[in-house]
Amino acid sequence: MGKLPLNEGSPGTPREANAGGHELFRPAAARYRRRLMHFVFYLVAGAILAFISLFVPDSLVKWVGIPGIALIVTAMLLFFTVPALRCPECGNHSDNGFDKFCPACGKDQLTISALRATHCNACGRNMGSYKYRNYPIRYCTHCSVLLDEHGV
Ligand SMILES: [Zn+2]
Ligand SMILES: [Zn+2]
Repeated sequence: MGKLPLNEGSPGTPREANAGGHELFRPAAARYRRRLMHFVFYLVAGAILAFISLFVPDSLVKWVGIPGIALIVTAMLLFFTVPALRCPECGNHSDNGFDKFCPACGKDQLTISALRATHCNACGRNMGSYKYRNYPIRYCTHCSVLLDEHGV
């Protein structure tokens, strides 16, 4: 009795990462998640201080307002310097726009539109634009390799 042939997959279905590709992506995904967490933390802390500064006496405003603004500026800097999610398979940035494949489900059924939201016919998602993502990145949009099973 020989081994059963491995399922090779068919065109249009996502393929698994080559050995190690997945592992190579993990540190980048961890860095990316950490950065977004810091961004949210600074933004919320800054927003709270800015809000409080509306209610404190004038003599105290600068002691609350200035740190609040500094925190918000820091949050913005963190946001705009988020490390790129480079695909270890094809070397393209997987978080930079859309190519052929749906980043959430890996199927090649994206309808890309500059006017309306990009839509995936396979999983039914409407994709938010770059940076303001409302979908998880699981697959590389350029080569459909599996990057992170939970999504980034
Ligand atoms: Zn790729
Ligand atoms: Zn999809």
